[in-house]
Order: sequence, then C-alpha cells, then structure tokens
Amino acid sequence: MSNNNVLIVGAGLTGLATAYYLKEAGLTAQLIEARTRPGGRIHTLYKNDTASLEMGATWLGAKHTFLRRLLEELNIEIFEQELSDWAIYEPISTSPHQVVTLPPNSDPSYRIRGGSSALIQALLDKLDTNQLHTGQVVQAIQEEADGLLVKCTDQHFKVPIVVSTLPPYLLTQTIDISPPLAADVLGIAEQTHTWMGESIKVALAYKNPFWKAPNTSGTIFSNVGPIPEMYDHSNYEKSHFALKGFLNGSYFSVSKAERLELILRQLSKYFGAAANDFSSYEETVWRNEPFTFSEYQSHILPHQNNGHPIYQQACLSHKLFIAGSETASQFPGYMEGAVRSAAFVAREVLGLLA
Ligand SMILES: Cc1cc2nc3c(=O)[nH]c(=O)nc-3n(C[C@H](O)[C@H](O)[C@H](O)COP(=O)(O)OP(=O)(O)OC[C@H]3O[C@@H](n4cnc5c(N)ncnc54)[C@H](O)[C@@H]3O)c2cc1C
Repeated sequence: MSNNNVLIVGAGLTGLATAYYLKEAGLTAQLIEARTRPGGRIHTLYKNDTASLEMGATWLGAKHTFLRRLLEELNIEIFEQELSDWAIYEPISTSPHQVVTLPPNSDPSYRIRGGSSALIQALLDKLDTNQLHTGQVVQAIQEEADGLLVKCTDQHFKVPIVVSTLPPYLLTQTIDISPPLAADVLGIAEQTHTWMGESIKVALAYKNPFWKAPNTSGTIFSNVGPIPEMYDHSNYEKSHFALKGFLNGSYFSVSKAERLELILRQLSKYFGAAANDFSSYEETVWRNEPFTFSEYQSHILPHQNNGHPIYQQACLSHKLFIAGSETASQFPGYMEGAVRSAAFVAREVLGLLA
C-alpha cells in the first residue's frame, strides 16, 4: 500500500504501536512528532553509571495483556517491582514515621527491563528511517474534498486518513480542526482528563542502596509528603541503585532547587545523612510539558471520560481518528490503553483502506 495514505500525529506509545501494526499489515504510515524525542509520556533517562530513571510510565500488571503480548513480540523482558517486606509509613504529621510489614503481594507490578523507553526504541527500530518526522508540531488539520491537509511547523501533508494520538483534551486546545469536530465529540474531548498530566516524577540515583537494610525500606507511603509514594528503582541487574516516586503535584510552581530541598528534607527524616549523598537528581513536571498538558478550562476529575465510547467512531467523514491511551475502551490512561488503542485504530484504518 502507498506511503501516503495514513498520517499519525504523535510518536508516543499509541502512535508508534499503530505504525507498527500497520506496517505488519503492509502499510507504511508517516508519523509526525512535536518533540525532538519520540516516546511522549514514556521517557527513561539513561546516564552513564547510574540506574536508568523513569520520568513517565513505569509499571504494568498481569492484566495488561495487549502490552505484554507486544513486549513479547519485541523480545523485551519484564521484572517484578521490588517492594521489600516492609514499608516506611507516615500517617500524620504529628507522629513519627513507622516501618510497617507489607502483606504478601498477590498482584505484583512489573517494570520493563532496560527501562520503559526500551519499548519505544524497539518500535522505532521497526520503522523505516523516513517514516518519523520529529520536531514538527501539527498546528492545523483541514478537511478537503479528497483528504485532510495537515499543517505542521514547516511541512504540509495531504493524506486520506489522519490518526491523532494526542490526549483528546490537548487535541482540542492545540490543533485547529476545520470544520470543527461535531459538538458531541468536542464536548467529551474538552472534558477528558489527560492521565498523569498534573503529576511530578522525581528520582534520585545513589551509589549505595542504604534503603535495602533491615528495618528500613525503599517503599514509602506518606500522608505528610511532599512525596506521597516512592519505590526502589534499582536496575534489573541490581548493579545501579535509585529511588523514584511522585511529588505532590502542587509543587509545580516552585523551583527545581526548592523541590529537591523538600525531597531531601523528607528522605533525611527516614534515612539520615545518607539521603543527601545522591549521585543524580532528575525530575519531570508534566504540567509544564506543552505537548502533554494544557490547563483545563473547568474542573476535570482524574480519568474523567477516559475510555468514552464516542472515541470508537471516526470524525470528519471517516478521515480523522481520535486515538491515544485515553480513548481505549479498556485500561484507558495506561500503557495498556495505548497499545489497545493502537490495535483498534490500526484495524479500523485497514478496514477503511481494504
Ligand atoms: C508521570 C507518569 C507516570 C505514568 N505511569 C504509568 C505507569 O506506571 N503505568 C502505565 O501503564 N502508564 C503510566 N503512565 C501513562 C502512560 O505514560 C500513557 O498511558 C502512555 O504513555 C500514553 O501514550 P500515548 O501515545 O497515548 O500518548 P502520549 O505519550 O502523550 O503521546 C502523544 C504524542 O503526541 C505528541 N504531540 C503532542 N502535540 C503534538 C502536536 N501538536 N503535533 C505533533 N505531535 C504532538 C507528544 O509529544 C507525544 O509524543 C504514566 C504517565 C505519566 C506522565
């Protein structure tokens, strides 16, 4: 089939997996990515001599069958998230933290060996070199009699079918679609939560895994914060060590140095001076990422309208599909949702072109 039939907007997991499924069926789609890096909300930082640090998606579960099948196809291994037998638990600010015993975990979480971006890299390896266009922001999509005109930063494409993989809310706020989306689709998309858009991921790499000692733990649950949850983030080989967690999203407006100071103050309470002896600190404030998050016009609840059935229909006379993790009918918002969305939209596109 022609190279010019399908254009995918966004080279996150949905976009790359869609391109992969289409290519398996003999169709080479073009992918347009605004950032200079592919991966979207999957972003592993690799540095010499430290554990790889996840700034975005990290965990998958046993029920994530589409993702697991894709990982298997691409020969990517997973390994169980280490939780230890204990957790540091801080219920209220007026009493000290405790070390509590964790019950046996009947439904463990898994991590991707080599980091979540190993999946992104494996999908990229399946593309032709000229399939992906990075650093190209799609600004407008215009319907014409014989297809859609896609206007990017400095390139225009004319194609019969476009697949958007942007979080639906971001799509409505940042891409000028003409004619406008139908009122029911637009109404839902404008009220669709972008999963983890408000989150802050923080990670500290250490030479010495001091939290792996008796009576302490890298698993932290705190109602006091600013880190509500944190986990061991050492690599599969157990040769490089790190702690990784979430920072309360309200700290998006302070400086990186202030966030680090708050984090170290909390970790020092549990681990003493060892907490300050980190070799690297990394963070991503996803709210400040314009190709993930756009400020909401009204209050939107977590996961609101994720998986809404309206996303199963194509728009603009079957020329525009709204895909992406948030649109999947099962596990929306998660990597599993992204892979399910990709499998669904690839099947729809192939059906149209058959
Ligand atoms: C902090 C954090 C933690 C998470 N943890 C987990 C987890 O543990 N487990 C899990 O399963 N999921 C997790 N997720 C969710 C997971 O990352 C997403 O479900 C998945 O990566 C979404 O993939 P996607 O391709 O649908 O969307 P995205 O990754 O958002 O991809 C959309 C792509 O479109 C691009 N784009 C945006 N605007 C334009 C434009 N105008 N023109 C061209 N390109 C554009 C973006 O740059 C991006 O690459 C987490 C997410 C975050 C942020």
